[in-house]
Amino acid sequence: MARPLVTVLPGDGIGPEVVAQAERILRCVAPDVELVRHPIGGAALDAFGHPLPESTLDACRKSDAVLLGAVGGPKWDNVQPVRLRPEIGGLLALRKGLGLSANIRPAKTFPALLAASPLKGEAGLVDLVVVRELTGGIYFGQPRERREQGRVAVDTCIYSVEEIESVARVAFRMARQRRRLVTSVDKANVLETSRLWRETVERVAEDYPDVRLEHMLVDNCAMQLVRNPRRFDVIVTENLFGDVLSDEAAMLTGSLGMLPSASLRPDGETSTFGLYEPAHGSAPDIAGQNLANPIATILSAAMLLRLSLGRSDAAEAVERAVERVLDRGLRTRDLAAEGEPSIGTAEMGDAILQEIRSNR
Ligand code: NAD
Repeated sequence: MARPLVTVLPGDGIGPEVVAQAERILRCVAPDVELVRHPIGGAALDAFGHPLPESTLDACRKSDAVLLGAVGGPKWDNVQPVRLRPEIGGLLALRKGLGLSANIRPAKTFPALLAASPLKGEAGLVDLVVVRELTGGIYFGQPRERREQGRVAVDTCIYSVEEIESVARVAFRMARQRRRLVTSVDKANVLETSRLWRETVERVAEDYPDVRLEHMLVDNCAMQLVRNPRRFDVIVTENLFGDVLSDEAAMLTGSLGMLPSASLRPDGETSTFGLYEPAHGSAPDIAGQNLANPIATILSAAMLLRLSLGRSDAAEAVERAVERVLDRGLRTRDLAAEGEPSIGTAEMGDAILQEIRSNR
């Protein structure tokens, strides 16, 4: 069988530093996986005149999964034309070019970091996943325009059964690997698209009788996330609601440097092509100083192993190692309390590798 191929896009700022640690972990737990680097973002613009060179997009399309660091930085903030800016011509173009229609954002509090959660005590021990539809809804619907000399504005929310079905299946499959509860979030008391959403999700649910489905209105969901986030397992929702709810859920865990994400092209029952990246940006303020927390990227690599390569055992080994390192009290600077000692990016990578090796 051919070796699985992962395209690695280090990008800008702290991207190359955090990606380097994730590559070390992948080489350790999945030595047969081929990792090939390609340029993206400001680095690619400087070297090749475009933030997403054709050869990079081609390489991504031919691989089983893509691991990305981050793109952008002050050096490229004013690049003209705008379509050549790293975030727009690089990252957004990459997501679009790869047809990634489901965004997965887990929010999991590590017990050792409970104090960083804005919720008090055990209520802060969150473990949920938001599955957000990424390429439809009001962000893309037409018409989108100004009318009456600019005094009226129109956006259009539009969804098809196919779009809803595809993201719903991702959520049900994910729930099967977790606690088997899907909460579908909509505004079916007001919106027609939400009524279609609800009907369609209910039909998809019939194919997953072992998973419980509940519906929740988006305003109630926003409230429940703060009141009792532990009641949730997998939340599935449309683009706009997911944008807001995934940030709200992520913040329950307290730290930007810990949040992985995946954007998937849901094209198979068992394996899925995806782009995996930390939720944070390129952090130019700390780039090149060995200060970045690599855990969000390492946990993104664990998601890649589980969701695109079907290697749940390797993914778990990585996640358990991260948990143990944190339990031992090791912290990068962003996680350390005032006056607490901290370690660097590479040292955090060393510690996680050591944990993996000693628990084989
Ligand atoms: P950011 O996430 O890069 O940084 C916000 C703050 O969090 C900074 O103080 C930073 O030092 C800190 N931080 C972020 N990641 C960290 C980590 N792993 N370890 C320790 N500290 C960390 O957001 P920003 O400052 O708004 O954006 C900086 C640049 O990144 C901009 O050019 C922006 O466009 C770009 N950006 C890229 C992506 C992406 O590539 N997906 C996402 C967001 C922002």
